[in-house]
Amino acid sequence: MKRMFASVFSVLSIFLINVGYAQVEIRIVDVGAGHAAVVKGPNDFYMVYDTGTWTNQAEYGENYAMSAIEEIIPKDQPIDLLVMSHAHSDHTESTVQILQDYQVKKIIRTGYRPDRKAQTNIGDRKWESMDALIRKMAENKELEDINLSQITIDQQQTYTEGNLPEWIGQTLMYADNQIEVKILSGFGSPLPSWEADLKAANEDSNSYRMNMSSIVIRLEYMPGDTRPGDGQSVLFMGDALGRFFDDDAQTVRFTEKLLIDRFGCEPWDTDCYNYLTSSVLIMGHHGAANASAKTFIENVRPQYAIAPSGHSHDHPAKSSMNHMLDFFITQYGTQEEALKHIYRTDIGDDERLRSSTNAKGQTKYFGVYEWDLGRIDGHRDEPGDNDVYIVMPEDGSIHVSQDGRN
Ligand SMILES: [Zn+2]
Repeated sequence: MKRMFASVFSVLSIFLINVGYAQVEIRIVDVGAGHAAVVKGPNDFYMVYDTGTWTNQAEYGENYAMSAIEEIIPKDQPIDLLVMSHAHSDHTESTVQILQDYQVKKIIRTGYRPDRKAQTNIGDRKWESMDALIRKMAENKELEDINLSQITIDQQQTYTEGNLPEWIGQTLMYADNQIEVKILSGFGSPLPSWEADLKAANEDSNSYRMNMSSIVIRLEYMPGDTRPGDGQSVLFMGDALGRFFDDDAQTVRFTEKLLIDRFGCEPWDTDCYNYLTSSVLIMGHHGAANASAKTFIENVRPQYAIAPSGHSHDHPAKSSMNHMLDFFITQYGTQEEALKHIYRTDIGDDERLRSSTNAKGQTKYFGVYEWDLGRIDGHRDEPGDNDVYIVMPEDGSIHVSQDGRN
């Protein structure tokens, strides 16, 4: 049924494109355990948010992110905006190749380098050469490099929830003002209050620090003049965090708390429109159990959620997906209806296949915390087969599908 709708829609959209019908198309590429999103808009607007994971080429001999970019963006067209949510190598695979193959006008990145000691994989070790290339291109005026760790390096440590840098809330307009991109969060290093939270929890983790500093943006197509939410919108979270694994459902911390404090509405204020409310939520940190706090989801109030997950790390997590499901049940009545609003890039994945045994002979099993609804016994979901498509036509509607091409 869904498939039939998709194919009718697809034929229709090709026809409409031919007669000059404008729309924004976003593809969340199934790169497995990583993230890449490619955006095409009217007036030849192109944006890439995260560029895939280093394991794709190494393990599969295929760079799924780059293939999608090449399919969507003609080589002679410049890329208006390249955002790297943070420096982890599951988000940066194709950056160097993009810079070699395309003209990129502007790049926004945290500049927060992976800890040298923790650079355990090839992808992380490539960060230094990628950084050097971007700096060199910026020096040669080949692109604009917005490196958040460089802009205010002296003041960085003084930022608090009440004293945020000027790029928070900054708006970039594209496609003759039809596309608004707003930077909602992003830091060269974590806020002092987040550090205190980590310390109190005995969580001295560089991975947490890099993730929580992720650049969060909201893209709205055909925004109104007076308030956000007139057009359809997508919230890109990167690996932003909102809780610790064992927090209760109501607790919200880190990036998600900052977003609520800075951009959210009071829960009782149903008339409030803000820059957090979004039609589609690309769930933070691959749908992991340290993001997607219940309170945060209630602030975003999405119509659709997408978990960019793969066969790794128990993503998406049961707790996060249940928060999502609970929210959609309150909106759409039944679990069956609610599930029509949740998408993932690793359909049916079963991580219980994985285990590892340490030197002491203790075996750790995976998949315990992974969402088990829709799990297919023994299915190891590979990258490349579950891209998610968001289409926002100029009539103000929005369509999310798993097979936009079929
Ligand atoms: Zn990641």
